[in-house]
Amino acid sequence: MSTPLLNLMDYDRESMLGLMAALGERSFRAGQLLQWIYQQGVFDFAGMTNLSKDLRGRLGEIAEIRGPEVVGDQTAADGTRKWLLQVDDKNRIETVFIPEPGRGTLCVSSQAGCALNCSFCATGRQGYNRNLSAGEIIGQVWLADRLLRAEQGAASSPITNVVMMGMGEPLLNFDNVVSAMRIMLDDYSFGMSRRRITLSTAGVVPAITRLGNECPVSLAVSLHAPNDRLRDELVPLNRKYPIRVLLDACRRYVAGESRRRITYEYTMLAGVNDAPAQARELRDLLVNTPAKVNLIPYNPVPGIAYRRSDPATIDRFRDILLAGGIMTITRKTRGADIAAACGQLTGQITDRTQRSVRLQRHGAEAN
Ligand code: SAH
Repeated sequence: MSTPLLNLMDYDRESMLGLMAALGERSFRAGQLLQWIYQQGVFDFAGMTNLSKDLRGRLGEIAEIRGPEVVGDQTAADGTRKWLLQVDDKNRIETVFIPEPGRGTLCVSSQAGCALNCSFCATGRQGYNRNLSAGEIIGQVWLADRLLRAEQGAASSPITNVVMMGMGEPLLNFDNVVSAMRIMLDDYSFGMSRRRITLSTAGVVPAITRLGNECPVSLAVSLHAPNDRLRDELVPLNRKYPIRVLLDACRRYVAGESRRRITYEYTMLAGVNDAPAQARELRDLLVNTPAKVNLIPYNPVPGIAYRRSDPATIDRFRDILLAGGIMTITRKTRGADIAAACGQLTGQITDRTQRSVRLQRHGAEAN
């Protein structure tokens, strides 16, 4: 059996340097390779004209540059674009591009499925299969960049911001996510500033601390409740890392950076977490932290009974936070008609946890 080819998309600068050293090559080759892949969009080694003929030949024997394969492509009425990507014969993931005047945000997935099982989220519902590799993560950016540029004939990338808010919990796939984000940040590839990359987490506390030390991009935290009793129910991970511990880690994350704040995401669920008393509780919780609150109108998920709070309730909730001095915005729902909005991404994955099977059985018994 032949050895499988290395996929160079799995390599950030540091590991590319290691590979070059192993091949007896000079270190500047690492940057040249990143430029060919991400800036020139060349994935045939023969076309990498500033590499020696010998290196091109050797890379051709041991390596390849392979992005995910597009198997679905939908555009919503508001211009939001969703790609369904095949990552192996069992798993398909989703990537979403959200165009706005003056900016374009790419929402990137980090896992096939999700193990956290938040009660309101479609991705968690379907179970978990595996972590995505660094190449499968950066491959989403590489692919969207190439497709959008080609379509728009744009010289610079239509992607100005990346949010790690697609399928999965990025901090449970720490190494591959950080590796992919390092490629986004690298001047030899996308050269993004770390403020334009936002990682969203349900609150994996030790990994928040590690992220702060190793790759301090902008951080968003899925809070959704002003107290542990309710949060235990909505985000089961809270039983392991309760709110007080989570907020401490968040404060440390931005300590010493006067202009930085953590974004707290709060999905508005009718009759569950949207009462004025809960807004006041949230205000008191966040009043002394560098915080910005993003209220997300709940996006319905088939088979889940939660409903979206009505606009007047959301406005009242927001006004209580604003009056308490907490920067608050209501996130505009984008792409809901193609199930591309927050919490609606499912792809098509093989659930090794068998959660969906258990849920179906459970449903059958209940009926
Ligand atoms: N696992 C990470 C990344 C997902 S980000 C995290 O939890 O932060 C997706 C965001 O959308 C999270 O804040 C998530 O809680 C929220 N969300 C999930 N389902 C939703 C839904 N149906 N409607 C609105 N927001 C939802």
